[in-house]
Amino acid sequence: MVLAGGGHSHALLLRRWIMRPRSRPQRCLIVLVNRHSTSLYSGMVPGLVAGRYSLAECRIDLRDLCRRAGVTFVQAEIVGLDLLGGALHLKDRPALRFDRLSLDVGCQTRGPAPSGGTLPHVRGEAAGAVPGLAAAAPCRDRAHPRWWGRGG
Ligand SMILES: Cc1cc2nc3c(=O)[nH]c(=O)nc-3n(C[C@H](O)[C@H](O)[C@H](O)COP(=O)(O)OP(=O)(O)OC[C@H]3O[C@@H](n4cnc5c(N)ncnc54)[C@H](O)[C@@H]3O)c2cc1C
Repeated sequence: MVLAGGGHSHALLLRRWIMRPRSRPQRCLIVLVNRHSTSLYSGMVPGLVAGRYSLAECRIDLRDLCRRAGVTFVQAEIVGLDLLGGALHLKDRPALRFDRLSLDVGCQTRGPAPSGGTLPHVRGEAAGAVPGLAAAAPCRDRAHPRWWGRGG
């Protein structure tokens, strides 16, 4: 079984398997693939920005969760999916074959078009903030220093 993506849903699933090992599918090799070995817990991000939590406190350690849940962790970028052939294609690695697949790669907000934004009512600076937190970089002077870390 392949768990594609280490999003919140898969992290909660791993936690459930740790707490109730019998609920984990038995006699089955389970592999979780994610591009990073940690994932940021979004519910704590406002507290991170406000300086209440450190970055380390907001991280979900997927590698450790997998180890404790009896799941193999693979750090890789997913680049394709062959549903009929039962294979998940990874960047610079052999494809992973699966009998069962669970997708949890999150979602991505479409960024604004260069000429004015995909959301008609969101314009200017606000539109620039839509694609993600990285877009907030120009505002770093006004942000809490712990958000950007030492040295900017
Ligand atoms: C600042 C902020 C605060 C939020 N606060 C809350 C809240 O308080 N309560 C709430 O219910 N929701 C909140 N949300 C929404 C919540 O974070 C999302 O609904 C949730 O994260 C979606 O979870 P997910 O499991 O779909 O995937 P995600 O948590 O988005 O995770 C997807 C994972 O897949 C990985 N991935 C994606 N593509 C690939 C690829 N090609 N190859 C390998 N890995 C890949 C990513 O690296 C990521 O680790 C918040 C969101 C933000 C941005």
